[in-house]
Amino acid sequence: MKYIKILKRSEMDYKEKAFQNLRKQNLRITKARKAIIDILEGKHLTIQEIYAEMQNKGFHNLSTVYNNIDFLLEHKIITQVFINGKKHYDLTIEEYSHTADSHVHVSCLASDNIIEINEQEFLNRIKNHPVFKGFDISKLQLVVEGNCKHYDTEVCKNTTNCYLINLHNRNKLP
Ligand SMILES: [Zn+2]
Ligand SMILES: [Zn+2]
Repeated sequence: MKYIKILKRSEMDYKEKAFQNLRKQNLRITKARKAIIDILEGKHLTIQEIYAEMQNKGFHNLSTVYNNIDFLLEHKIITQVFINGKKHYDLTIEEYSHTADSHVHVSCLASDNIIEINEQEFLNRIKNHPVFKGFDISKLQLVVEGNCKHYDTEVCKNTTNCYLINLHNRNKLP
């Protein structure tokens, strides 16, 4: 249950929408690319974690996985976020407004759990700062790392006991 995030589904299947966009540009949606998208659904994963799951699906060539990751990055279907010192990949297509810039990542260091806060006002506070009046922001990523105050880090090591995850699941935070 690591790397949990809450999915908000738009009316039309977001994956199909992304595939249509690619088709329009005459780009191929290969089985490997589809598999990576499926693996990243609802999760933030490192390349090693993606590769491990790709192997379960029968894709054993690491360079193919890297090439397809590059393709998905280039076409903005996924993005990369540094969390807990590791590069994680994140789907950007789950919602029409969902990009790495539209949510804040919060990570409990003990458990490696990652949740998202999807509150636009949060980031708007930054975007509306006077310094950005004459500045065109192309990327804004906010990552918050720390430890759960209420629990011992030993408790958090058992992912499902982590305070962050419990709070997130109980309150269905936006
Ligand atoms: Zn995310
Ligand atoms: Zn925790």
